[in-house]
Amino acid sequence: MGLIVQKFGGTSVADLERIRYVAKRVGKTYDQGNDVIVILSAMAGVTDRLIDMAAQIAESPEKRELDVLLATGEQTTAALLAITLKDMNYPAISMLGHQAKLVTDCTFGNARILEIGAGTIIDLIEKRNIVVVAGFQGCDINGNITTLGRGGSDTSAVAIASALKADICEIYTDVDGIYTADPNICKKARKINTISYDEMLNMASLGAKVLQIRSVGFAKKYNVPIHVRSSFSEEEGTMVVSEDSGMEQLVVSAVTHDKNQARITLRKVHDQPGVAAKIFSPIAETGIVVDMIIQNTRAEGQTDLTFTVPKEDFSAAMEIERKVAGKIGAEDVLGDKNIAKVSVVGVGMKNHSGVASIMFNTLARENINIMMISTSEIRISCVIEEKYTELAVRVLHTAFGLDKED
Ligand code: ADP
Ligand code: ASP
Ligand code: MG
Repeated sequence: MGLIVQKFGGTSVADLERIRYVAKRVGKTYDQGNDVIVILSAMAGVTDRLIDMAAQIAESPEKRELDVLLATGEQTTAALLAITLKDMNYPAISMLGHQAKLVTDCTFGNARILEIGAGTIIDLIEKRNIVVVAGFQGCDINGNITTLGRGGSDTSAVAIASALKADICEIYTDVDGIYTADPNICKKARKINTISYDEMLNMASLGAKVLQIRSVGFAKKYNVPIHVRSSFSEEEGTMVVSEDSGMEQLVVSAVTHDKNQARITLRKVHDQPGVAAKIFSPIAETGIVVDMIIQNTRAEGQTDLTFTVPKEDFSAAMEIERKVAGKIGAEDVLGDKNIAKVSVVGVGMKNHSGVASIMFNTLARENINIMMISTSEIRISCVIEEKYTELAVRVLHTAFGLDKED
């Protein structure tokens, strides 16, 4: 018996039948004597549809209003689950972000959680209510509705679990755990039983969207154990916990991919001090996160400068750079949205050489061209054409000996 936070993702609440199933699962945990807080995502596809609708009206919809709109997805599922639980005679109550006192900064669309006033939820739990909280949303100090970025319900769940000192935060999703590669594209991927926060942080930052990166950062900071598991089966999933010396430290422990990237090149930029600052400062001021950067030196004191940004920021970044190019006298600005980043990750890489060469040779054998490369102590990432993503993940998974045995 304990305090359990259960988060259900979009596919787990995709329709009324799934919501009824979730209610049974929550009810069972409650009947075992546990206190239960449930965090919900919007029904699968709803957030995308709402974004599309706003985009049909305006090219760049006002961010405050977009958050008011997007928050309705989670409002719907929270109410529907509470209605279902009550219909099954459970004492359930739904709460929106502001009612759960989830206070964020004012960054609409990508807000950070500043604090959670746990008192309200604690009072309800002490009276043996099942509290159903709409994920992904909070409110700023002025009372505006904010959202936490795509996949943000994971972060709502972990943040609430840490504020209430829950015994565990269970993340129910459409796969039965965290795998050595996305199991939906790599059938030979292996389920990982236990993974450290650090390793999961790396995987999430390199595209493994099974957990939103901020949720893992939160879990690490406040030591919240996470159990990622399937809402479609009773099977044990993957535990995400602090580092344990008993954990296997493979040279490469996972292959990840990220299709949410776009590439921008400024051609024939003057090779002199201050130019890079002029290119990147206006991008940083708008809050766009630049990932990889490469600079190729040409003859005659000129360079080409290429960098990547998230796909959703591509149009805004292109517009900024066209203006910058005019000011700094660059010849042209080129953009490419058909790219992807594939990465190999592993803490054990620190003490091994040759990982890069295996990666490059493996991609070369498949005739996959590498457009950009970046490395750190524990990962190597290559930007390739998007259409080769799945192939690249599979061949790298095999090359690094990660395939499960048949
Ligand atoms: P939810 O809607 O439940 O939040 P998400 O779609 O956000 O679910 O995350 C689950 C998906 O993450 C899986 O369907 C899978 O395609 C993807 N994924 C990517 N990398 C991995 C990985 N290494 N292990 C497990 N799932 C992964
Ligand atoms: N509904 C939001 C999204 O689709 C948040 C979430 O599901 O975690 O990104
Ligand atoms: Mg998710």
